[in-house]
Formats: sequence, C-alpha cells, structure tokens
Amino acid sequence: MKNAILGAGLAILLSILPYRIMALSAEMFVVFPGATRVVTTNDHYWDVGDLGVRLNRLGFTVVYGTPLYLDGQRVYGVTSFEEHAIAIDSSLSWDARYDVLTHEAGHTHQPFWVNAEEGDCYAEGVAAVLTGTLREHARYLHGTKWTCLGVFLAEWPSIYATAATMHN
Ligand SMILES: [Zn+2]
Repeated sequence: MKNAILGAGLAILLSILPYRIMALSAEMFVVFPGATRVVTTNDHYWDVGDLGVRLNRLGFTVVYGTPLYLDGQRVYGVTSFEEHAIAIDSSLSWDARYDVLTHEAGHTHQPFWVNAEEGDCYAEGVAAVLTGTLREHARYLHGTKWTCLGVFLAEWPSIYATAATMHN
C-alpha cells in the first residue's frame, strides 16, 4: 500500500517534467545502480571534440589524462572552477568520455545554491539531455535519486538551457 501511494505521488511529480528529464527520473528509480562508466562504443568521437571547442570558448580548458583523482578518490572527470579547467579520464571510450564531458559541462553552469550531491544531479541531468541516453546516467544517479528528483523539479528549465548552450 505504501509503495502504491509512493508510486502514485512519484507519477504525479514526474508528469510535471519534460520528457527526457522525466524519463531519466523514472529510470533512476528502477535501474540497476552503479557509478562505473561501462559504455565501450565510440560513436561520439566528433561530439567530444565539438563540445571541447565550445567549452574553450566559454573559458574552460579541457585536458585528458589517467588516472584522475579528486580528494584521494579515482574519478572519471573533474571540473576546477578556480583554474577554469576540466580533466577527463583518457582511458575511457569516446562515448564514455562524452558522457563524462557533458556531465562536467553541466557543472560549469550549475546553480550557486547546490551542494556537491545536488550539483552532480544537475550535471548528470545536463548530460542526459545532451547525450540522449538514459540508462548510463540513471545508473549514476540511483544512489541519490530523491535528491536528484528535487533538483530536477526545481531546475529543469536551467538544465535544458545549459544543454542548449552546449549544443547550439
Ligand atoms: Zn560531477
């Protein structure tokens, strides 16, 4: 019964969201969780270059290297606001690099009020809108799904606007 009420409430909340963020939100509640980037295809080779150029124009340098660490933890990508620099793990496939680079691009426009967890929700929302793939992004957000649902409800217009900035 509790699950039914929760499900109905969730359905109403999700119906407010535009399609792609709505689909991402629904997916993050049911997907098998995991933060490992597992995509091994290379279809987005050119998109990685294009987005890198766009980020350059916005004042961010993009560098590639491996392995990358943040606070002692291995990470696939990191954005330094002080240095206006983004680093991406060069051991990833091009499609995984695109997933990470679109995420870091999202961080460059995240709202001032977010904490680290909320910022990751925002960034991954931008990545999902830009890449058009859901499963990989939903897996990444599964552990913080309630936080992310709140961020999506509050910030979806900004998430779409950031995605447009990175694409048009
Ligand atoms: Zn992040």
